[in-house]
Amino acid sequence: MGNILVVEDEPAIATAVAARLEADGHAVEMCHDGAEAVERCAELEPDLVVLDLLLPGLDGLEVCRRIQAGRRVPVVMLTARDDETDMLVGLAVGADDYITKPFSPRELVARVNAVLRRVSEEGSGPSGPDHQLGAVEIFRASRRIRVEEREVHLTPTEFDLLAQLAAAAPAVLTRQQLLVAVWGYRDGSGARTVDSHVRAVRRKLGDDVIRTVHGVGYSIGDL
Ligand code: CA
Repeated sequence: MGNILVVEDEPAIATAVAARLEADGHAVEMCHDGAEAVERCAELEPDLVVLDLLLPGLDGLEVCRRIQAGRRVPVVMLTARDDETDMLVGLAVGADDYITKPFSPRELVARVNAVLRRVSEEGSGPSGPDHQLGAVEIFRASRRIRVEEREVHLTPTEFDLLAQLAAAAPAVLTRQQLLVAVWGYRDGSGARTVDSHVRAVRRKLGDDVIRTVHGVGYSIGDL
């Protein structure tokens, strides 16, 4: 359960999302433009922000940058099209997950809960890497990635995707298995989300780190 700020200028969507989140036990505040979102976020210090990309005033990208400037805030971004989602993942704007309209409020709540769960599990503790993939080291407890001694930032979703594949290696995981394990989401309609996040991980860590097994899914390369 958390305090959630819903930023969405379309009243029907904002109301439906807020109602579903409240029914799930979250405390919800709503606002309808970007500048207001930045202000409310500073006042409320929410546990998570549901943020529409296209807003009057400041757009969602700029809101995401500003609210992340002071403290880390988990963000689930709402986009109107899949290609916008791909663009955002590529820009690494600091959102933890993305969902493309139209979506069911139930699906959104599942995504929100998965992000909140992961953030609450983020711990710390020094230890050696749990997985070593070539030059890439994965530290599960502290949720850090190092490449040749250099820290590389992955979003919580990207980290979980990589960690799931590393734990399963050398087995191949299907998109559906990854959706369940990483997103906690059982309906297969989010398969393109898996592909977007794989592309983001490859951009950050190199193309070789995750192997595409055509017609099946993904696996980690040579261990
Ligand atoms: Ca909008």
